[in-house]
Amino acid sequence: MSSTPRSTDTFDHVVIGSGSAGGVVAARLAEDPQVRVLLLEAGPDDEDEMIKMPVGFSTLFRTKWDWNYRTSGQKQLEGRRKTWPRMKALGGCSSMNAMIYIRGARADYDEWRDAYGAEGWGYDDVLPYFLRSEGNQRLDGPLHNTDGPLHVEDRRYTHPLSEAWVESAVASGLKRNDDFNGESQYGTGLYQVTCKDGRRWSVADAFIRPAMERSNFEVRTEAFVTRILLDGGRATGVVYTSRGEEHVVRVEGEVVLSGGAINSPQLLMLSGIGPGAHLREHGIDVLVDSPGVGQNLQDHPVGGPIYYTHKTTDLAGQLSLRNLLRWRATGRGPLASNVGESGAFLDSRDGLNDPDIQVFVAPTGFIDNGEHEPVRSAVTVAACLVRVESRGQIRLRSADPTWHPEIDPAYFDDQRDLDAIVAGAKTLSEISQQKPFGDFIRAPWMPETLDPDEAEFESALRRLAQTLYHPVGTCAMGTIEGSVVGPDLTVHGVEGLRVADASVMPRVPRGNTNAPTIMIGEKCADLIKESA
Ligand SMILES: Cc1cc2nc3c(=O)[nH]c(=O)nc-3n(C[C@H](O)[C@H](O)[C@H](O)COP(=O)(O)OP(=O)(O)OC[C@H]3O[C@@H](n4cnc5c(N)ncnc54)[C@H](O)[C@@H]3O)c2cc1C
Repeated sequence: MSSTPRSTDTFDHVVIGSGSAGGVVAARLAEDPQVRVLLLEAGPDDEDEMIKMPVGFSTLFRTKWDWNYRTSGQKQLEGRRKTWPRMKALGGCSSMNAMIYIRGARADYDEWRDAYGAEGWGYDDVLPYFLRSEGNQRLDGPLHNTDGPLHVEDRRYTHPLSEAWVESAVASGLKRNDDFNGESQYGTGLYQVTCKDGRRWSVADAFIRPAMERSNFEVRTEAFVTRILLDGGRATGVVYTSRGEEHVVRVEGEVVLSGGAINSPQLLMLSGIGPGAHLREHGIDVLVDSPGVGQNLQDHPVGGPIYYTHKTTDLAGQLSLRNLLRWRATGRGPLASNVGESGAFLDSRDGLNDPDIQVFVAPTGFIDNGEHEPVRSAVTVAACLVRVESRGQIRLRSADPTWHPEIDPAYFDDQRDLDAIVAGAKTLSEISQQKPFGDFIRAPWMPETLDPDEAEFESALRRLAQTLYHPVGTCAMGTIEGSVVGPDLTVHGVEGLRVADASVMPRVPRGNTNAPTIMIGEKCADLIKESA
């Protein structure tokens, strides 16, 4: 890498990172033909059949597609370091995720506004942005839209085990819910997915590629941004490396940082924006002392009973040439499964107004990010804690941008989190004994007994709980102490620099985070257009 920049060019807006938010911001900004927009992505193009194939998402982990992050040793998980997959390619994690389309609860967004001072981000404010993207195949009306660019469809493959679990949940008293993004999240049903005709539909498909038709829009892949340039308190450009060469881009409008919840705080810190003492430890000049950068890390932990099955199949056993040809020809069959097929939203205890547990039923033994070859046919009924109290952090390990930062999600550091997920997992084990699902259980796998008590669940979760891939909060939006960006997403203390990605969520919503991050991208583009 040369220290003297080799080339310079100029754009109105530069967006760093082509993920769920960055891809949307860039494409929407480029709708104005007068505005020159550059999108920089560290990873390559998203050309690979395993990206398109829903069932294949976990085969991308720990490959060239993955940033290959691991957490620091987790105190409450017996010191284990956990793998944190994150996509490094066009589309970011929308090209790697499990495609479940969920928005979260009304209360989540009202809380952003009321508890964090994120004025303009209450549910009624953000709903139009969810609708703007959504192209729902089945659902319409005031809470849905059918003609947005983000295809959302009913599943084209559902394993009988996933259907059976929903029936058992209904038999246990949960109501059937065919729209988890409707009036209420509560109940049990099948997940809708961001797919088109049984193939993944990422933001690269929905937003970036269509925008590439425009002559005012440029995308550069394999462009790793190492620094944001600031001059007199204003962002004036970015430095990136590509194939061993360093480049500088000058910006006349705004820089939008959309590197995700790990990379965005890292890049702010490398650029001199972050907790002053920590930056000085690494010899970085402090341009803006912003103590909240990298703090407030939240993630949804997940874990739950796994059973060995009989009288049925395992999704992993369906990876045959015949099914591959079927999926290629029709977008149907087991390879169209997104693995987390059915589920539920429920309470871990009495007295809650909104659910704190989300359920994912996967017709296979999904352990350690699905990286273990299943030796016997199994099914996972995972409890995911969607209301977390623990707070972790991202810290630099080095001022060298190629070093991974330290990632500490602090899983279960707050005892309430462990109590809630244990109670949730216990409820799932009771539901799972009911017919018809119970008939498919041959033996318990995790925990080792069929009717485990709290202590057995706790010990299993300390061994096997893992990420549900939803880190947020590390450049939190708001007006309270510790917030990093304002409600207009502009970084406090800097002009011409906004952050738009999952890192700005002051608190993680109840549910998967792709649609909420796309919504943030939509709103960021409007905020920039309005201020211009
Ligand atoms: C395995 C997995 C399964 C998931 N399943 C679901 C699901 O089923 N449903 C759901 O709603 N959500 C799911 N999620 C979560 C969801 O996909 C993410 O929350 C969302 O994509 C985050 O978007 P983002 O814009 O914040 O970051 P990302 O999408 O990660 O985008 C960041 C982009 O910036 C690039 N980048 C980073 N640093 C730099 C740099 N220095 N220079 C240039 N480029 C850079 C990255 O390569 C990446 O492309 C899942 C995530 C994963 C990983």
